[in-house]
Amino acid sequence: MNSYGLGGRVAVVTGGASGIGRACAHVLARSGADVSIWDRDRAAIDLVLKELEAYDFRSHGAVVDVGDAAAVDAAMDEVREALGHVDIAVCNAGIGGAAATSGDYTDEEWHEVIRVNLDGVFYTQRAAIRAMKASGRGGSIINMASILGAVGFPTASAYTAAKHGVVGLTQVAAWEHAADHIRVNAVGPGFIRTPLVETHLDAAALESLAAQHALQRIGEPEEVAELVAWLASDGASFATGTYYPIDGGFLAR
Ligand code: NAP
Repeated sequence: MNSYGLGGRVAVVTGGASGIGRACAHVLARSGADVSIWDRDRAAIDLVLKELEAYDFRSHGAVVDVGDAAAVDAAMDEVREALGHVDIAVCNAGIGGAAATSGDYTDEEWHEVIRVNLDGVFYTQRAAIRAMKASGRGGSIINMASILGAVGFPTASAYTAAKHGVVGLTQVAAWEHAADHIRVNAVGPGFIRTPLVETHLDAAALESLAAQHALQRIGEPEEVAELVAWLASDGASFATGTYYPIDGGFLAR
């Protein structure tokens, strides 16, 4: 298990109570960062906070709907008050949305996926930039895109549009805030074994998805979290404005 030298840093992880976000919270805390977990469900947050006690660094939790700009701003203020500043923001919370062809996608489903997966990343990134500028310490923002930030996938129009949008807003912010010593990158996981995937797909569907990756399997949340922690660290000092697929070879074909 790697450690990324994040002592003295404060990290916010949205969607940190499950799946990839939970794995990110673990590797960031293991690397020495204080971690604030944002998610929708208090009990789920508390379970992960309990797990993080093993690392002996400060942790914090907030119930936040990332699609609500005022709630995001209030939570960022709360973190600054509780932990002093914000150096790392993993804008990870997301939903899968309905599986329907573009001709059948409803307004409601479209708006909810865009609200959480695109507005939510924009609001969290914006609040993080403001906090990082206020501290004068700079920082690293990691936005969770997907392989569907690079290619399309039938029945996932809203999700694919949101993830392409996440890559775009990452590129813009990286240019705008390089002089503030804020690096901004996007991560593009292939299919990863989390509740988001497992609750929607049966064993046969998972097997068929696995076959679309060169490694012939889906990924584990910890394999994505390693990349996130590296991007958060000083080892990634020349990395900004880039979209990093971590996909077992899905996009290589
Ligand atoms: P997950 O296990 O479902 O975790 C996502 C977490 O975000 C859940 O705890 C969820 O809460 C929370 N969340 C959802 N909407 C929220 C909101 N409006 N405000 C705050 N928290 C919210 O899913 P995951 O697979 O780890 O996904 C994490 C990120 O990775 C997402 O952005 C996803 O698009 C991306 N991703 C996943 C995969 C994959 O194959 N798993 C691949 C590529 C990209 P609830 O449980 O209450 O919904």
